[in-house]
Amino acid sequence: AGKAVLLVTHDPYVVEQLSDRTLFVSGGRLVEPEPTPVGHLGVTGPRRESRGEPALRVRGLAVGSRHTPILRDIDLDLHPGEMLGLLGISGAGKSTLARCIAGLARPVAGDICVNGERLPVLRRRTRQQIGRVQYVWQESAAAFDPHRDILDQVSATGIRLRGLDRARARSAGAALLADLGIDAEQAVRLPAGLSGGQLQRAALARALLARPRILLCDEVTTALDKPTAALILDHLDDYRRRTEAAVLWISHDLSSQLDRADRLAVLDGGRITDIGPPVALTGSSGPEILARLLQADSTGDRVQFRPAVM
Ligand code: ADP
Ligand code: MG
Repeated sequence: AGKAVLLVTHDPYVVEQLSDRTLFVSGGRLVEPEPTPVGHLGVTGPRRESRGEPALRVRGLAVGSRHTPILRDIDLDLHPGEMLGLLGISGAGKSTLARCIAGLARPVAGDICVNGERLPVLRRRTRQQIGRVQYVWQESAAAFDPHRDILDQVSATGIRLRGLDRARARSAGAALLADLGIDAEQAVRLPAGLSGGQLQRAALARALLARPRILLCDEVTTALDKPTAALILDHLDDYRRRTEAAVLWISHDLSSQLDRADRLAVLDGGRITDIGPPVALTGSSGPEILARLLQADSTGDRVQFRPAVM
């Protein structure tokens, strides 16, 4: 207890699981994780994924018991740089799927691979040190301590997962918040002074500071007006273009910018019933079809999208 350990290894995966902070030695010099070409670890380092390999691969995922299944037979690929919209009515299992991918819920069957590596079963504390997959949902906003500087709380992720010092983490955090429409002056306030929508964006900024390879956004714009939601989507478009990170954009709401997604998947009754490009949405009948789908219960009409383009 209380001992510091210097772990020297060539294996980024070991580092990622065990260390609080990471430095790279390159050409005889210590390389700070910042500025980052984002690699496997979200810090400077060797990229592991080969071209064409999905960022996320889910196979045969099941959650719940045989009598009360929550998710069944879930197969899903998420490609580097892709935004996949996941759509479904309340209770369809969207958050459960995201929680499994984030390692916060345990499936009863199936595999989840991130960058070709099977998600290991980890102790919770260790799991939190992994920045590769970040999950943002409504409750993320409630996780802030109301009595501590919000910018400190946002930047803690950069310190913990990327080894930034406090000043750098704060400036990176402030820049991210600005991109998401929250100015620095607001950001030094206590969370108690911020609205739900602002806290939601702060939670997103905190997740982005980890430089995730996979970002799971679960109803993150529900409390926001259209222009602010568009601002967030602009930032995410830019982020995934720069870093090839994949985004799973989860919503029960048709008006939540789903047309930005490269593909859409519909989750219904614990299964993915349809997956394909959102052309179905941009055509004149698309929104109407989806509205019907969302109003229908799980025994209602099925809508066929075009087959997925892989
Ligand atoms: P969505 O995010 O699409 O609204 P959820 O994933 O939150 O759906 O929930 C899917 C179903 O799983 C719901 O019927 C919900 O009651 C159930 N569920 C979610 N989490 C649990 C849990 N921890 N234990 C038992 N049932 C759960
Ligand atoms: Mg949900």
